[in-house]
Amino acid sequence: MTNSKETLLRGSIEDNQFRLFACETTGIVQQIRDIHDLYPLPSILMGRLITAVALMSGELKAPQGEISIRIDAEGPLKGGIVIANKEGMLKGYAFVPQLWLPENQDNFLVGKNLGKGTFTVIRQSGLKAPYQGKIELRDGEIGTDLAYYYHQSEQLPSAVNLGVLIDQEARIRAAGGIMIQALPQADKSLTLQIEENMINTPNVSDLMDMGMTIEEILDRFVLKGLAWQISKSTPIRFQCDCSKERFARGLLLLGKEELQDLREDISPVCHYCSAVYTFTKDEIEDLLKSLD
Ligand SMILES: [Zn+2]
Repeated sequence: MTNSKETLLRGSIEDNQFRLFACETTGIVQQIRDIHDLYPLPSILMGRLITAVALMSGELKAPQGEISIRIDAEGPLKGGIVIANKEGMLKGYAFVPQLWLPENQDNFLVGKNLGKGTFTVIRQSGLKAPYQGKIELRDGEIGTDLAYYYHQSEQLPSAVNLGVLIDQEARIRAAGGIMIQALPQADKSLTLQIEENMINTPNVSDLMDMGMTIEEILDRFVLKGLAWQISKSTPIRFQCDCSKERFARGLLLLGKEELQDLREDISPVCHYCSAVYTFTKDEIEDLLKSLD
């Protein structure tokens, strides 16, 4: 166990009739906000997306497993990408990080400012070809879209509660989420009870802000009166796996002629963590030689 609050919990409900995933992501969302200098609305979008992908990563089994969610939308918020791997590493970026809308209340409405768009999930197991599933955005609030994705693409009825609470100074007060999935053997009346409990549960981030842990929220609201257990608790964190070598490989993909035309140092920036990798003319020469 770790002292970090950022953990992913996996569990089961009523003799494995349901799967349970829950996580706290406050510190991770704060880090992503700080690295990309996200304004409030992109912060809320990224907070919900990073929490959603963290919950989804709970099903990864292969050691090289990776899962990503990508939103492409027509509204001013446009969308973003988040990626999680089996080791609990999370990263992502918003397409419009410094969005500020003239009407103050609009700066907290994710779905309205995404508008029409798509929700794409890509799974990589490391060995097999990646699997991709795509749906139209349901309401753009991410939680509903995630539940709809599982229902449409994987025939897994799911209930999701995602929350990101942010204050006036763009400080993340609380972020987290809960996802419950009914397996084929699930009892209908229990499914209805959990759905109703989920509807009657206030937003997780509001409850966390009042000092409740995710386990307490499960116990007192979502799974009240039900038999459930946590089988695994693992740390999750923001971490980018970029490196100069990886960027060099990316440069080589540009091709020989493109590289030969470069007349000065170049400094590509990692979208995910804002790290800058400078390649001098000499280093580019060396890369060119490696192509021969
Ligand atoms: Zn990076």
